[in-house]
Amino acid sequence: MAWRRIKQRNCLIGSECNECKTLFYPPKLKCKKCSSSNLSEFKFSGKGSIVSFSEIRNPLYGFEKQTPYTIAIVKLEEGPMLTTQIVDFDKIEIGTKVESCLRVMHTEGHSGMIQYGTKFKPAE
Ligand SMILES: [Zn+2]
Repeated sequence: MAWRRIKQRNCLIGSECNECKTLFYPPKLKCKKCSSSNLSEFKFSGKGSIVSFSEIRNPLYGFEKQTPYTIAIVKLEEGPMLTTQIVDFDKIEIGTKVESCLRVMHTEGHSGMIQYGTKFKPAE
């Protein structure tokens, strides 16, 4: 799976407010803190740690093939928290260091179109 080696795809693009320097992920067009719309692209390291997690046994539509799966709240090194799926792990706990990786999110019903998205796995 050569695409996994393409490093820059693993990075997380968010935004940074140029007025108050608050960071956001996913990116925002308007700062939630100071309401400025003067934001620019910010590249996160993709590293963080698990704040909380839970195993999902009743999947949302489109996720049936992946049940059960684990959803966690990850706090990025740079500060923002996000909800994400954790993959490729034997055991995780609160505080486990994780990093972003690009994985197939789901395939569209009839078209078979594959959508990729960011997930997290334990950091090596
Ligand atoms: Zn701001």
